[in-house]
Amino acid sequence: MTADLILHNARALTMDPVRPRAQSVAIGADRILACGDDAVVLALAGPQTRLIDCRGATLLPGFVESHLHLFSGAYGQTLLQLAGVRGIDALGQAVAAFAAANPEAALLFGQGADYTLLGEGHRLDRHALDRVCRDRPLALMAYDFHTLFANTAALRAAGLLHGRSLPPGNQVVMGPDGLATGELREKLALMPVLELRDIGGREMLGMSGLEPPVPPSVADRAEDLRVLRLGLAHAARHGITSMHNMDGNRYLLELLDCLRQNGTLSARVKVPFHLTPEMPLSNLDRASAMARDFDGPMLTSGLVKMFLDGVIESGTAALLDDYTNRPGHRGETLFTPDHFRTAVIEADRRGLQIAVHAIGDAAVRLALDSYAAAAVVNGPRDRRHRIEHAEVVHPDDLHRFAALGVIASMQPPHAPTGCNGTTDGIGPARAPHAYAWRDLVDAGAEYAFSSDWPIAPLSPLSGIQAAMTRQGWLPDLPDQRLTLHEVLEAYTRRGAHAGFHEGLTGRLITGLKADLTLLDGDIEAVEPESIGAMQVVLTIFDGNIAHARRIPRSAATRCAHPSRRPTPHEP
Ligand SMILES: [Zn+2]
Repeated sequence: MTADLILHNARALTMDPVRPRAQSVAIGADRILACGDDAVVLALAGPQTRLIDCRGATLLPGFVESHLHLFSGAYGQTLLQLAGVRGIDALGQAVAAFAAANPEAALLFGQGADYTLLGEGHRLDRHALDRVCRDRPLALMAYDFHTLFANTAALRAAGLLHGRSLPPGNQVVMGPDGLATGELREKLALMPVLELRDIGGREMLGMSGLEPPVPPSVADRAEDLRVLRLGLAHAARHGITSMHNMDGNRYLLELLDCLRQNGTLSARVKVPFHLTPEMPLSNLDRASAMARDFDGPMLTSGLVKMFLDGVIESGTAALLDDYTNRPGHRGETLFTPDHFRTAVIEADRRGLQIAVHAIGDAAVRLALDSYAAAAVVNGPRDRRHRIEHAEVVHPDDLHRFAALGVIASMQPPHAPTGCNGTTDGIGPARAPHAYAWRDLVDAGAEYAFSSDWPIAPLSPLSGIQAAMTRQGWLPDLPDQRLTLHEVLEAYTRRGAHAGFHEGLTGRLITGLKADLTLLDGDIEAVEPESIGAMQVVLTIFDGNIAHARRIPRSAATRCAHPSRRPTPHEP
Protein backbone atom coordinates (compact mmCIF):
# COMPACT_ATOMS: atom_id res chain seq x y z
CA MET A 1 0.00 0.00 0.00
CA THR A 2 1.30 3.45 -0.95
CA ALA A 3 1.27 6.35 1.49
CA ASP A 4 -0.32 9.73 0.73
CA LEU A 5 2.00 11.49 3.14
CA ILE A 6 5.16 10.51 5.01
CA LEU A 7 6.67 12.54 7.85
CA HIS A 8 10.29 11.44 8.16
CA ASN A 9 13.48 12.40 9.98
CA ALA A 10 11.40 13.13 13.10
CA ARG A 11 11.85 12.43 16.76
CA ALA A 12 8.45 10.81 17.16
CA LEU A 13 7.22 10.06 20.68
CA THR A 14 4.51 7.54 19.93
CA MET A 15 2.97 7.19 23.43
CA ASP A 16 2.91 3.48 22.66
CA PRO A 17 4.74 1.55 25.41
CA VAL A 18 5.58 -1.25 22.96
CA ARG A 19 7.52 1.08 20.64
CA PRO A 20 7.89 4.47 22.30
CA ARG A 21 10.09 6.08 19.62
CA ALA A 22 10.05 6.27 15.84
CA GLN A 23 11.60 8.31 13.04
CA SER A 24 8.83 8.25 10.53
CA VAL A 25 5.05 8.05 10.15
CA ALA A 26 3.23 7.13 6.94
CA ILE A 27 -0.35 8.23 6.38
CA GLY A 28 -2.86 6.77 3.93
CA ALA A 29 -6.23 8.56 3.66
CA ASP A 30 -7.30 9.21 7.28
CA ARG A 31 -5.17 6.49 8.94
CA ILE A 32 -1.64 5.84 10.12
CA LEU A 33 -0.24 3.20 7.73
CA ALA A 34 3.08 2.68 9.47
CA CYS A 35 5.28 4.10 12.17
CA GLY A 36 8.94 3.17 12.58
CA ASP A 37 12.43 3.70 11.19
CA ASP A 38 12.89 5.94 8.16
CA ALA A 39 14.20 3.05 6.02
CA VAL A 40 11.12 0.91 6.61
CA VAL A 41 8.47 3.65 6.41
CA LEU A 42 9.94 5.46 3.40
CA ALA A 43 9.60 2.20 1.45
CA LEU A 44 5.86 2.99 1.39
CA ALA A 45 6.49 6.11 -0.70
CA GLY A 46 5.20 6.10 -4.26
CA PRO A 47 5.42 8.71 -7.03
CA GLN A 48 2.43 10.63 -5.60
CA THR A 49 3.51 10.50 -1.96
CA ARG A 50 4.17 13.84 -0.29
CA LEU A 51 7.25 13.78 1.94
CA ILE A 52 7.78 16.14 4.84
CA ASP A 53 11.26 16.28 6.37
CA CYS A 54 10.75 17.01 10.08
CA ARG A 55 14.44 17.91 10.55
CA GLY A 56 14.73 16.18 13.87
CA ALA A 57 11.78 17.91 15.51
CA THR A 58 9.37 16.23 17.93
CA LEU A 59 6.37 14.52 16.36
CA LEU A 60 3.49 13.64 18.70
CA PRO A 61 -0.01 12.28 18.54
CA GLY A 62 -2.41 15.21 18.11
CA PHE A 63 -3.03 16.91 21.44
CA VAL A 64 -6.19 16.03 23.35
CA GLU A 65 -7.53 19.06 25.24
CA SER A 66 -9.70 17.40 27.88
CA HIS A 67 -11.60 20.41 29.22
CA LEU A 68 -12.44 23.57 27.33
CA HIS A 69 -15.38 25.76 26.36
CA LEU A 70 -15.13 26.09 22.60
CA PHE A 71 -18.13 28.31 21.92
CA SER A 72 -17.51 30.87 24.67
CA GLY A 73 -13.75 30.76 24.11
CA ALA A 74 -14.20 31.45 20.42
CA TYR A 75 -16.77 34.17 21.06
CA GLY A 76 -14.49 35.72 23.66
CA GLN A 77 -11.95 36.50 20.98
CA THR A 78 -14.35 39.17 19.74
CA LEU A 79 -14.70 40.89 23.18
CA LEU A 80 -12.90 43.57 25.21
CA GLN A 81 -9.84 41.73 26.59
CA LEU A 82 -8.96 42.72 30.15
CA ALA A 83 -6.02 40.43 30.91
CA GLY A 84 -3.20 42.68 32.08
CA VAL A 85 -5.43 45.77 32.51
CA ARG A 86 -4.66 47.31 35.94
CA GLY A 87 -6.13 50.37 37.62
CA ILE A 88 -9.13 52.61 36.96
CA ASP A 89 -7.36 54.77 34.36
CA ALA A 90 -6.29 51.82 32.22
CA LEU A 91 -9.76 50.32 32.56
CA GLY A 92 -11.37 53.62 31.54
CA GLN A 93 -9.21 53.87 28.43
CA ALA A 94 -9.88 50.25 27.43
CA VAL A 95 -13.64 50.62 27.89
CA ALA A 96 -13.77 53.95 26.03
CA ALA A 97 -11.90 52.52 23.04
CA PHE A 98 -14.08 49.42 22.94
CA ALA A 99 -17.28 51.48 23.28
CA ALA A 100 -16.22 53.74 20.41
CA ALA A 101 -15.46 50.70 18.24
CA ASN A 102 -18.80 49.05 19.09
CA PRO A 103 -21.34 51.89 18.98
CA GLU A 104 -24.30 49.55 18.43
CA ALA A 105 -23.50 46.90 21.07
CA ALA A 106 -26.37 46.46 23.51
CA LEU A 107 -23.88 45.54 26.25
CA LEU A 108 -20.23 46.52 26.47
CA PHE A 109 -18.71 43.25 27.54
CA GLY A 110 -15.20 42.56 28.77
CA GLN A 111 -13.56 39.33 29.80
CA GLY A 112 -10.48 38.30 31.73
CA ALA A 113 -10.93 40.78 34.61
CA ASP A 114 -8.72 40.18 37.61
CA TYR A 115 -10.53 40.34 40.97
CA THR A 116 -7.95 42.93 42.02
CA LEU A 117 -8.07 44.89 38.75
CA LEU A 118 -8.48 48.18 40.65
CA GLY A 119 -5.77 47.30 43.17
CA GLU A 120 -5.87 45.66 46.59
CA GLY A 121 -8.67 47.03 48.77
CA HIS A 122 -10.54 48.65 45.85
CA ARG A 123 -13.68 46.72 44.98
CA LEU A 124 -14.87 46.28 41.44
CA ASP A 125 -18.42 47.47 42.11
CA ARG A 126 -21.06 49.34 40.14
CA HIS A 127 -19.86 52.70 41.46
CA ALA A 128 -16.37 52.09 40.09
CA LEU A 129 -17.77 50.85 36.77
CA ASP A 130 -20.11 53.86 36.55
CA ARG A 131 -17.03 56.07 36.73
CA VAL A 132 -15.68 54.51 33.52
CA CYS A 133 -19.06 54.15 31.78
CA ARG A 134 -22.32 55.59 33.05
CA ASP A 135 -24.61 55.81 30.03
CA ARG A 136 -24.33 52.34 28.49
CA PRO A 137 -24.62 48.90 30.10
CA LEU A 138 -21.13 47.58 30.93
CA ALA A 139 -20.22 44.18 32.37
CA LEU A 140 -16.81 42.67 33.07
CA MET A 141 -16.39 38.92 33.47
CA ALA A 142 -13.83 37.71 35.99
CA TYR A 143 -11.11 35.60 34.41
CA ASP A 144 -12.56 32.47 36.03
CA PHE A 145 -16.11 33.08 34.67
CA HIS A 146 -17.61 32.67 38.14
CA THR A 147 -18.18 36.36 38.91
CA LEU A 148 -19.50 39.17 36.74
CA PHE A 149 -19.16 42.86 37.61
CA ALA A 150 -21.89 45.14 36.19
CA ASN A 151 -22.47 48.89 36.18
CA THR A 152 -25.75 50.45 37.27
CA ALA A 153 -27.13 50.65 33.71
CA ALA A 154 -26.48 46.92 33.17
CA LEU A 155 -28.01 45.96 36.53
CA ARG A 156 -31.09 48.05 35.76
CA ALA A 157 -31.47 46.63 32.25
CA ALA A 158 -31.15 43.07 33.59
CA GLY A 159 -33.65 43.73 36.40
CA LEU A 160 -31.08 43.00 39.11
CA LEU A 161 -30.55 46.45 40.67
CA HIS A 162 -32.95 45.68 43.52
CA GLY A 163 -31.62 42.16 43.98
CA ARG A 164 -33.10 38.77 43.25
CA SER A 165 -33.40 35.66 45.39
CA LEU A 166 -31.61 32.73 43.79
CA PRO A 167 -30.85 29.08 44.63
CA PRO A 168 -27.91 28.39 46.99
CA GLY A 169 -24.48 29.10 45.56
CA ASN A 170 -25.74 31.93 43.30
CA GLN A 171 -25.81 35.49 44.62
CA VAL A 172 -26.63 39.05 43.65
CA VAL A 173 -24.42 40.77 46.23
CA MET A 174 -26.35 43.56 48.00
CA GLY A 175 -24.91 46.76 49.45
CA PRO A 176 -25.80 48.70 52.62
CA ASP A 177 -27.95 51.03 50.44
CA GLY A 178 -30.30 48.13 49.69
CA LEU A 179 -29.20 47.99 46.06
CA ALA A 180 -27.02 45.47 44.24
CA THR A 181 -23.29 46.26 44.49
CA GLY A 182 -22.70 45.07 40.93
CA GLU A 183 -20.95 41.83 41.94
CA LEU A 184 -22.85 38.83 40.59
CA ARG A 185 -21.72 35.42 41.74
CA GLU A 186 -22.21 32.22 39.77
CA LYS A 187 -24.27 31.35 36.76
CA LEU A 188 -27.84 32.14 37.75
CA ALA A 189 -26.86 35.57 39.03
CA LEU A 190 -24.95 36.57 35.92
CA MET A 191 -27.15 35.08 33.18
CA PRO A 192 -29.68 37.99 33.19
CA VAL A 193 -26.83 40.37 32.25
CA LEU A 194 -25.35 38.01 29.65
CA GLU A 195 -28.73 37.84 27.95
CA LEU A 196 -28.42 41.57 27.16
CA ARG A 197 -25.66 40.84 24.62
CA ASP A 198 -26.21 40.85 20.88
CA ILE A 199 -25.37 37.14 20.63
CA GLY A 200 -28.23 36.64 23.10
CA GLY A 201 -26.11 34.40 25.32
CA ARG A 202 -26.33 31.50 22.86
CA GLU A 203 -22.68 30.60 23.42
CA MET A 204 -23.39 30.32 27.17
CA LEU A 205 -26.60 28.27 26.99
CA GLY A 206 -24.63 25.03 27.12
CA MET A 207 -23.40 26.01 30.59
CA SER A 208 -27.00 25.68 31.78
CA GLY A 209 -28.05 22.74 29.62
CA LEU A 210 -30.51 24.99 27.76
CA GLU A 211 -31.40 25.16 24.07
CA PRO A 212 -32.02 28.52 22.33
CA PRO A 213 -35.52 29.59 23.43
CA VAL A 214 -36.46 30.45 19.85
CA PRO A 215 -34.79 28.75 16.87
CA PRO A 216 -31.88 30.97 15.79
CA SER A 217 -32.34 32.74 12.46
CA VAL A 218 -30.27 31.82 9.42
CA ALA A 219 -28.10 34.89 10.10
CA ASP A 220 -27.62 33.93 13.77
CA ARG A 221 -26.61 30.39 12.80
CA ALA A 222 -24.17 31.71 10.22
CA GLU A 223 -22.63 34.00 12.85
CA ASP A 224 -22.37 31.13 15.35
CA LEU A 225 -20.67 28.94 12.73
CA ARG A 226 -18.23 31.75 11.97
CA VAL A 227 -17.39 32.06 15.66
CA LEU A 228 -16.89 28.29 16.03
CA ARG A 229 -14.58 28.19 13.01
CA LEU A 230 -12.46 30.91 14.68
CA GLY A 231 -12.20 28.73 17.79
CA LEU A 232 -11.35 25.57 15.86
CA ALA A 233 -8.65 27.36 13.86
CA HIS A 234 -7.18 28.67 17.12
CA ALA A 235 -7.11 25.11 18.51
CA ALA A 236 -5.47 23.74 15.34
CA ARG A 237 -2.69 26.36 15.66
CA HIS A 238 -1.98 24.86 19.07
CA GLY A 239 -1.82 21.28 17.79
CA ILE A 240 -5.17 20.19 19.22
CA THR A 241 -6.95 17.44 17.29
CA SER A 242 -9.39 16.28 20.00
CA MET A 243 -11.32 18.30 22.54
CA HIS A 244 -13.75 17.58 25.34
CA ASN A 245 -16.06 20.55 25.43
CA MET A 246 -17.28 20.92 29.01
CA ASP A 247 -20.62 22.58 28.40
CA GLY A 248 -23.13 21.66 25.83
CA ASN A 249 -26.51 21.32 24.24
CA ARG A 250 -27.97 19.86 21.09
CA TYR A 251 -27.71 23.22 19.30
CA LEU A 252 -23.90 23.17 19.62
CA LEU A 253 -23.77 19.58 18.34
CA GLU A 254 -25.89 20.56 15.35
CA LEU A 255 -23.60 23.49 14.54
CA LEU A 256 -20.51 21.27 14.78
CA ASP A 257 -22.21 18.60 12.69
CA CYS A 258 -22.78 21.23 10.02
CA LEU A 259 -19.02 21.92 10.01
CA ARG A 260 -18.33 18.17 9.89
CA GLN A 261 -20.52 17.79 6.83
CA ASN A 262 -18.73 20.72 5.16
CA GLY A 263 -15.39 19.09 5.89
CA THR A 264 -14.31 22.02 8.08
CA LEU A 265 -14.42 20.36 11.50
CA SER A 266 -10.71 20.29 12.43
CA ALA A 267 -10.89 18.32 15.70
CA ARG A 268 -12.79 15.46 17.28
CA VAL A 269 -15.23 17.11 19.68
CA LYS A 270 -17.08 15.58 22.60
CA VAL A 271 -20.08 17.62 23.76
CA PRO A 272 -21.87 16.80 27.01
CA PHE A 273 -25.39 17.40 28.18
CA HIS A 274 -25.30 19.80 31.13
CA LEU A 275 -27.54 18.79 34.06
CA THR A 276 -28.30 21.56 36.56
CA PRO A 277 -29.73 21.20 40.09
CA GLU A 278 -32.97 22.87 38.96
CA MET A 279 -33.72 20.22 36.31
CA PRO A 280 -35.88 17.18 36.96
CA LEU A 281 -33.86 14.02 36.29
CA SER A 282 -36.20 13.23 33.39
CA ASN A 283 -34.07 15.78 31.49
CA LEU A 284 -31.50 13.01 31.23
CA ASP A 285 -33.70 11.71 28.40
CA ARG A 286 -32.15 14.55 26.40
CA ALA A 287 -28.65 13.34 27.34
CA SER A 288 -29.50 9.81 26.23
CA ALA A 289 -30.91 11.12 22.93
CA MET A 290 -27.76 13.19 22.30
CA ALA A 291 -25.62 10.11 23.06
CA ARG A 292 -27.62 8.07 20.57
CA ASP A 293 -27.69 10.69 17.80
CA PHE A 294 -24.04 11.80 18.00
CA ASP A 295 -21.74 8.80 18.19
CA GLY A 296 -19.28 9.10 15.31
CA PRO A 297 -15.49 9.29 15.21
CA MET A 298 -15.55 13.10 14.94
CA LEU A 299 -18.50 14.15 17.04
CA THR A 300 -19.68 12.41 20.18
CA SER A 301 -21.81 13.10 23.23
CA GLY A 302 -22.54 10.37 25.79
CA LEU A 303 -21.36 12.60 28.63
CA VAL A 304 -23.24 14.38 31.42
CA LYS A 305 -21.62 17.47 32.94
CA MET A 306 -22.59 18.80 36.37
CA PHE A 307 -21.31 21.56 38.64
CA LEU A 308 -20.96 20.47 42.24
CA ASP A 309 -19.37 23.66 43.59
CA GLY A 310 -17.78 26.96 42.51
CA VAL A 311 -14.30 28.37 43.06
CA ILE A 312 -12.09 29.11 46.07
CA GLU A 313 -11.65 32.85 45.28
CA SER A 314 -15.32 33.71 45.75
CA GLY A 315 -15.85 31.26 48.64
CA THR A 316 -18.17 29.09 46.54
CA ALA A 317 -15.96 25.96 46.46
CA ALA A 318 -17.17 23.40 49.04
CA LEU A 319 -14.49 22.61 51.64
CA LEU A 320 -14.52 20.04 54.45
CA ASP A 321 -13.14 22.61 56.92
CA ASP A 322 -13.48 26.38 57.20
CA TYR A 323 -11.91 28.71 54.65
CA THR A 324 -8.70 29.97 56.20
CA ASN A 325 -9.60 33.57 55.30
CA ARG A 326 -13.28 33.24 56.35
CA PRO A 327 -13.71 31.45 59.70
CA GLY A 328 -17.08 29.73 59.96
CA HIS A 329 -17.48 29.51 56.17
CA ARG A 330 -17.01 26.25 54.24
CA GLY A 331 -18.98 26.89 51.05
CA GLU A 332 -21.76 24.57 50.00
CA THR A 333 -22.39 22.14 47.19
CA LEU A 334 -24.79 23.22 44.44
CA PHE A 335 -26.66 19.91 44.67
CA THR A 336 -27.67 18.45 48.04
CA PRO A 337 -25.78 15.19 48.65
CA ASP A 338 -28.92 13.03 48.21
CA HIS A 339 -29.95 14.84 45.05
CA PHE A 340 -26.48 14.55 43.57
CA ARG A 341 -26.12 10.86 44.39
CA THR A 342 -29.52 10.15 42.82
CA ALA A 343 -28.58 12.10 39.67
CA VAL A 344 -25.25 10.25 39.35
CA ILE A 345 -26.87 6.85 39.80
CA GLU A 346 -29.50 7.65 37.16
CA ALA A 347 -27.01 9.01 34.60
CA ASP A 348 -24.77 6.01 35.28
CA ARG A 349 -27.69 3.59 34.88
CA ARG A 350 -28.20 5.00 31.39
CA GLY A 351 -24.62 4.08 30.49
CA LEU A 352 -23.53 7.72 30.28
CA GLN A 353 -20.13 9.02 31.31
CA ILE A 354 -20.18 11.75 33.98
CA ALA A 355 -17.90 14.76 34.44
CA VAL A 356 -18.33 16.76 37.63
CA HIS A 357 -16.81 20.16 38.39
CA ALA A 358 -15.50 19.70 41.94
CA ILE A 359 -12.84 22.05 43.29
CA GLY A 360 -13.09 21.88 47.10
CA ASP A 361 -12.28 18.72 49.05
CA ALA A 362 -15.91 18.37 50.22
CA ALA A 363 -17.17 18.46 46.63
CA VAL A 364 -14.46 16.00 45.51
CA ARG A 365 -15.43 13.62 48.31
CA LEU A 366 -19.14 13.82 47.48
CA ALA A 367 -18.35 13.10 43.81
CA LEU A 368 -16.24 10.06 44.75
CA ASP A 369 -18.90 8.82 47.21
CA SER A 370 -21.58 9.16 44.53
CA TYR A 371 -19.52 7.37 41.87
CA ALA A 372 -18.93 4.57 44.39
CA ALA A 373 -22.68 4.38 45.10
CA ALA A 374 -23.45 4.17 41.37
CA ALA A 375 -21.03 1.25 40.99
CA VAL A 376 -22.74 -0.60 43.85
CA VAL A 377 -26.25 0.04 42.52
CA ASN A 378 -25.62 -0.46 38.79
CA GLY A 379 -22.87 -3.08 38.85
CA PRO A 380 -19.44 -3.18 37.25
CA ARG A 381 -18.68 -1.56 33.89
CA ASP A 382 -16.02 0.60 32.23
CA ARG A 383 -17.37 3.98 33.44
CA ARG A 384 -14.45 6.44 33.29
CA HIS A 385 -16.36 9.00 35.34
CA ARG A 386 -14.36 12.18 35.81
CA ILE A 387 -13.73 14.88 38.38
CA GLU A 388 -12.98 18.21 36.74
CA HIS A 389 -10.34 20.37 38.49
CA ALA A 390 -9.96 18.38 41.78
CA GLU A 391 -7.97 21.34 43.12
CA VAL A 392 -8.14 20.42 46.81
CA VAL A 393 -8.26 16.68 47.56
CA HIS A 394 -8.25 15.36 51.13
CA PRO A 395 -5.30 12.94 51.52
CA ASP A 396 -7.71 10.17 52.55
CA ASP A 397 -9.33 10.43 49.11
CA LEU A 398 -6.20 10.29 46.91
CA HIS A 399 -6.21 6.51 46.52
CA ARG A 400 -9.95 6.39 45.76
CA PHE A 401 -9.48 7.75 42.22
CA ALA A 402 -7.60 4.61 41.17
CA ALA A 403 -9.79 2.30 43.26
CA LEU A 404 -12.95 3.63 41.60
CA GLY A 405 -11.44 4.17 38.13
CA VAL A 406 -12.21 7.89 38.35
CA ILE A 407 -10.24 10.22 36.06
CA ALA A 408 -8.70 13.35 37.57
CA SER A 409 -9.17 15.97 34.85
CA MET A 410 -6.86 18.81 35.88
CA GLN A 411 -5.55 22.10 34.51
CA PRO A 412 -1.83 22.72 35.12
CA PRO A 413 -2.09 26.43 34.16
CA HIS A 414 -4.59 27.01 37.02
CA ALA A 415 -2.17 26.37 39.88
CA PRO A 416 -1.44 29.62 41.73
CA THR A 417 2.10 30.88 41.37
CA GLY A 418 1.99 33.26 44.35
CA CYS A 419 -0.21 34.12 47.32
CA ASN A 420 -3.64 35.41 46.29
CA GLY A 421 -7.35 34.97 47.03
CA THR A 422 -7.19 31.29 46.19
CA THR A 423 -4.24 30.46 48.39
CA ASP A 424 -5.57 32.61 51.26
CA GLY A 425 -8.76 30.52 51.22
CA ILE A 426 -6.88 27.21 51.05
CA GLY A 427 -4.49 28.17 53.86
CA PRO A 428 -1.27 26.49 54.98
CA ALA A 429 -2.85 23.28 56.34
CA ARG A 430 -4.49 22.34 53.04
CA ALA A 431 -1.77 23.76 50.78
CA PRO A 432 0.22 20.49 50.58
CA HIS A 433 -2.90 18.79 49.18
CA ALA A 434 -3.88 21.46 46.66
CA TYR A 435 -3.21 20.99 42.94
CA ALA A 436 -1.67 17.68 44.03
CA TRP A 437 -0.81 16.34 40.58
CA ARG A 438 2.20 14.31 41.74
CA ASP A 439 0.28 12.80 44.66
CA LEU A 440 -2.62 11.77 42.41
CA VAL A 441 -0.35 10.30 39.75
CA ASP A 442 1.66 8.41 42.38
CA ALA A 443 -1.63 7.13 43.87
CA GLY A 444 -2.33 5.51 40.48
CA ALA A 445 -5.08 7.87 39.34
CA GLU A 446 -5.93 8.10 35.66
CA TYR A 447 -5.46 11.74 34.69
CA ALA A 448 -5.99 14.10 31.78
CA PHE A 449 -4.84 17.71 31.36
CA SER A 450 -6.28 20.82 29.78
CA SER A 451 -6.58 24.60 29.94
CA ASP A 452 -10.31 25.12 30.60
CA TRP A 453 -10.07 27.72 27.81
CA PRO A 454 -11.04 30.58 27.94
CA ILE A 455 -10.11 30.54 31.66
CA ALA A 456 -6.48 29.91 30.68
CA PRO A 457 -4.93 30.32 27.21
CA LEU A 458 -5.56 27.39 24.89
CA SER A 459 -2.00 26.07 24.66
CA PRO A 460 -1.04 22.51 25.55
CA LEU A 461 2.64 23.52 25.31
CA SER A 462 2.08 26.13 28.04
CA GLY A 463 0.26 23.48 30.07
CA ILE A 464 3.20 21.09 29.68
CA GLN A 465 5.55 23.80 30.91
CA ALA A 466 3.25 24.61 33.87
CA ALA A 467 3.03 20.96 34.94
CA MET A 468 6.81 20.49 34.73
CA THR A 469 7.85 23.74 36.44
CA ARG A 470 5.22 24.21 39.16
CA GLN A 471 6.54 25.89 42.31
CA GLY A 472 4.71 25.95 45.64
CA TRP A 473 3.41 29.31 46.92
CA LEU A 474 4.65 28.59 50.44
CA PRO A 475 8.08 27.33 51.49
CA ASP A 476 8.47 23.55 51.92
CA LEU A 477 5.34 22.49 50.05
CA PRO A 478 5.70 19.03 48.49
CA ASP A 479 7.03 18.95 44.93
CA GLN A 480 4.02 18.31 42.67
CA ARG A 481 5.88 18.63 39.36
CA LEU A 482 5.54 15.88 36.76
CA THR A 483 8.02 14.60 34.19
CA LEU A 484 7.80 15.47 30.50
CA HIS A 485 6.63 11.99 29.63
CA GLU A 486 3.94 11.97 32.33
CA VAL A 487 2.60 15.29 31.08
CA LEU A 488 2.74 14.37 27.38
CA GLU A 489 0.70 11.28 28.16
CA ALA A 490 -1.97 13.45 29.81
CA TYR A 491 -2.27 15.51 26.62
CA THR A 492 -2.33 12.49 24.28
CA ARG A 493 -2.91 8.84 25.19
CA ARG A 494 -4.58 9.45 28.55
CA GLY A 495 -6.74 12.24 27.15
CA ALA A 496 -7.94 9.91 24.40
CA HIS A 497 -8.75 7.30 27.05
CA ALA A 498 -10.72 9.87 29.07
CA GLY A 499 -12.85 10.42 25.96
CA PHE A 500 -13.25 6.68 25.10
CA HIS A 501 -11.19 7.38 21.95
CA GLU A 502 -8.16 5.16 22.56
CA GLY A 503 -9.13 3.10 19.51
CA LEU A 504 -9.05 6.23 17.34
CA THR A 505 -6.34 8.58 18.50
CA GLY A 506 -3.80 9.44 21.23
CA ARG A 507 -0.91 7.22 20.00
CA LEU A 508 1.16 6.90 16.85
CA ILE A 509 0.47 3.29 15.90
CA THR A 510 -0.63 1.58 12.71
CA GLY A 511 -4.38 1.67 12.19
CA LEU A 512 -5.28 4.66 14.33
CA LYS A 513 -6.61 7.86 12.79
CA ALA A 514 -3.89 10.16 11.46
CA ASP A 515 -4.00 12.88 14.13
CA LEU A 516 -0.48 14.32 14.59
CA THR A 517 1.28 17.38 15.93
CA LEU A 518 4.75 18.44 14.82
CA LEU A 519 6.70 20.89 16.99
CA ASP A 520 9.43 23.31 15.88
CA GLY A 521 12.14 21.55 17.84
CA ASP A 522 13.12 18.66 20.07
CA ILE A 523 10.94 19.00 23.17
CA GLU A 524 13.24 16.67 25.13
CA ALA A 525 16.18 19.01 24.52
CA VAL A 526 14.37 22.22 25.49
CA GLU A 527 14.50 23.54 29.04
CA PRO A 528 11.07 23.02 30.70
CA GLU A 529 10.86 26.81 31.28
CA SER A 530 10.95 27.34 27.50
CA ILE A 531 8.50 24.67 26.32
CA GLY A 532 5.58 27.12 26.35
CA ALA A 533 7.47 29.26 23.82
CA MET A 534 7.77 26.38 21.35
CA GLN A 535 5.51 26.44 18.30
CA VAL A 536 3.34 23.88 16.59
CA VAL A 537 4.43 23.88 12.96
CA LEU A 538 2.05 21.25 11.64
CA THR A 539 -1.28 19.86 12.81
CA ILE A 540 -2.73 16.91 10.93
CA PHE A 541 -6.31 15.94 11.69
CA ASP A 542 -7.88 12.81 10.24
CA GLY A 543 -5.17 12.68 7.58
CA ASN A 544 -5.60 16.32 6.50
CA ILE A 545 -3.40 19.32 7.27
CA ALA A 546 -5.37 21.53 9.67
CA HIS A 547 -2.55 23.98 10.38
CA ALA A 548 0.90 24.49 8.91
CA ARG A 549 3.71 26.96 9.23
CA ARG A 550 7.18 26.66 7.75
CA ILE A 551 9.36 24.10 9.47
CA PRO A 552 12.62 25.64 10.73
CA ARG A 553 15.71 24.54 8.84
CA SER A 554 17.41 22.80 11.73
CA ALA A 555 14.63 22.49 14.19
CA ALA A 556 16.32 20.43 16.84
CA THR A 557 19.33 22.68 17.36
CA ARG A 558 17.36 25.88 17.12
CA CYS A 559 14.97 24.95 19.88
CA ALA A 560 17.74 24.38 22.37
CA HIS A 561 18.10 28.18 22.15
CA PRO A 562 14.51 29.36 21.96
CA SER A 563 15.44 33.03 22.37
CA ARG A 564 17.17 32.85 18.97
CA ARG A 565 14.17 31.39 17.18
CA PRO A 566 13.34 33.50 14.09
CA THR A 567 9.87 34.84 13.53
CA PRO A 568 7.90 31.99 12.03
CA HIS A 569 6.38 32.50 8.62
CA GLU A 570 2.91 31.41 7.68
CA PRO A 571 3.02 29.22 4.56
ZN1 LIG B 1 -14.74 24.52 32.55
